[in-house]
Amino acid sequence: MNKHAKTGAINVVLFGPPGAGKGTQAAKLKDFLAVPHISTGDMFRYHIKNNTELGKTAKSYSDKGKLVPDEVTIAMVKDRLSQPDVKNGFLLDGFPRSVPQAEALDKILAGLGMKLDYVVNISIADEEIRNRLSKRAQIEGRADDADPKVIQNRINTYKAQSEPCLKYYRPKKHVWDINGIGAIDEVFERIKKVFQK
Ligand code: AMP
Repeated sequence: MNKHAKTGAINVVLFGPPGAGKGTQAAKLKDFLAVPHISTGDMFRYHIKNNTELGKTAKSYSDKGKLVPDEVTIAMVKDRLSQPDVKNGFLLDGFPRSVPQAEALDKILAGLGMKLDYVVNISIADEEIRNRLSKRAQIEGRADDADPKVIQNRINTYKAQSEPCLKYYRPKKHVWDINGIGAIDEVFERIKKVFQK
């Protein structure tokens, strides 16, 4: 039970560089908050696995460590946020990842009569990103984690396109900065505190 349970929806963006642990933490946080976990990376991987048209487009970008174009990604998220299960809240993981996406999210939510309640930013150092992504490549066999060049592209893409989202949000909202270094449960305890304040 969280403090929003009585008052209504709880709408969260989980932000951070690749390898920060967004997916791992989101899997725990969605249960804690009792909201659907919406991961654009997972949605694209589903389409890639099923070889859909969207999957073919997504793969041509994700294999290189690049972002899937905004218009494609925004349309997919808009469709997902219009589903009825989102009315009690959502946990967005991996979106927004560019300023146009952040602006689009504000518009989509306004159109649905919703608003963003929390931006949680998990941060880790570049060196740790590289270590974690190459470990994940061995464990999960993710194509976009396997090649050091692709890893570097993902870091560069994060810095050039995604990190500016923080500058977009900071003047408008409180951004909760979470240190992503530590055991999974330690980091989760830090995140939980945001929702208990
Ligand atoms: P992730 O699992 O979140 O690291 O996402 C894997 C890949 O999917 C990324 O490297 C991108 O190519 C693509 N992707 C995921 N989310 C987005 C997004 N919000 N915008 C554009 N591309 C994305």
